Amino acid sequence: MSSGFPKDFLWGASTSAYQVEGNNTNSDWWEWEQAGGTEPSGKACDHYNRYPEDFRLAKELGHNAHRLGVEWSRLEKEKGRWDWKELDHYRSVINALADLGIEPIVTLNHFTLPRWLAREGGWLNSNTPEYFAQLAVYVMEELGDKVRYWITINEPNILAILAYFQGIWTPCHKDFDEAVLVLKNMLKGHALAYKQMNELAANMPRIKKPAIGIAKAVTAFHPCSPSSPLDRLATYYRSLFHNYAFINSLIKGRTFLPGTPAKKLPAKKTLDFIGLNYYFRQFIHYEKPLTKHPLGEVCSLEHHKDTGKTTDMGWEIYPRGIYEVAKSFSRYKLPIMITENGLATTDEALRQSYIMTHLNWLLKAIDGGAPVVGYLHWSLLDNFEWDKGYTKRFGLVHVDYKTQQRTIKDSARYYASIIKNRTIAI
Ligand code: BGC
Repeated sequence: MSSGFPKDFLWGASTSAYQVEGNNTNSDWWEWEQAGGTEPSGKACDHYNRYPEDFRLAKELGHNAHRLGVEWSRLEKEKGRWDWKELDHYRSVINALADLGIEPIVTLNHFTLPRWLAREGGWLNSNTPEYFAQLAVYVMEELGDKVRYWITINEPNILAILAYFQGIWTPCHKDFDEAVLVLKNMLKGHALAYKQMNELAANMPRIKKPAIGIAKAVTAFHPCSPSSPLDRLATYYRSLFHNYAFINSLIKGRTFLPGTPAKKLPAKKTLDFIGLNYYFRQFIHYEKPLTKHPLGEVCSLEHHKDTGKTTDMGWEIYPRGIYEVAKSFSRYKLPIMITENGLATTDEALRQSYIMTHLNWLLKAIDGGAPVVGYLHWSLLDNFEWDKGYTKRFGLVHVDYKTQQRTIKDSARYYASIIKNRTIAI
């Protein structure tokens, strides 16, 4: 019999700066939107001004933690010129959370970059790791007395793949070698930030000893045909590359690409906790020749029986996957935080059952020994969903983008009842 979620469990929701703040005019995404790349983000949820109200809603819903981001393009609008007013702004934001007794979990980079940096090549530029570490140090100096949990980079592999390999996001490149270089530079950026943030904390007693992680996109990969050894091999490589390789490098300091020599990377032991963003399952089948397609191909859900419903993103709802990833990442013996999990839908019954089933499987993982310290639902608010614009609603709180009116959804109340009871009534 489960004794429920741990007493000190972190409960809450996640957001990212660009998706909720609005008017991030100095960002590479803004520039791309204006050029017709996607629907303009405009005012977004105007969270830049409305954060006190939004945090009060989180509090009302029983959240004791909240993941938020700082927007690099606000803080360093021009190269090397730090905007202290914007740092002050984030200080007020963190103070607002502290006043409500909500633990902040701060993401330093969630996909977007300042325009000047994008012009210099963004994460392709070998100086970017240093620029990023500088950002980390400035932000920590300002907020580190109230922030313990830091996430350096959100979903490195998603940015590398969508923006540099598949050409879907700005800068819309299609070059696998570039994607690999981006990953390497992000890894270096994380490692450098980790080192410098720890040095800062050691030298400034007012700064809390940090717990530094990344938020890693993970998928529950299954072989298309479980009886096919080649499908199983492709699935193994896919998981290695997509789920484990980057984290492995931050823990063991070895190269993250399957099939490449075990080169040493300067990132060993630079992770204090593992953030997992879990959304869906994918079926992988083998593609000939294996040497050219080691990661196989994603098989369409139509070819599979007994799959779950799909969300408005077309993603399969597969609650057991959160158990699979939490259990499997336990091997690293580091605390695990679910830094994102959620769905795009306007069907509140579906969101409620999603929350119930995922938390139920998460509890099973915890009962089975997985060191999970928190669950942060994506997202607190409906928000700007990147290339999908405002068409997808992931929020616990509905946002009317015309009036900026917030309305708590039924599923959010349901989640609040789980938080209160630390267990799930099924
Ligand atoms: C990202 C979020 C995004 C969410 C839903 C994650 O990959 O970190 O920014 O909104 O998925 O697509």
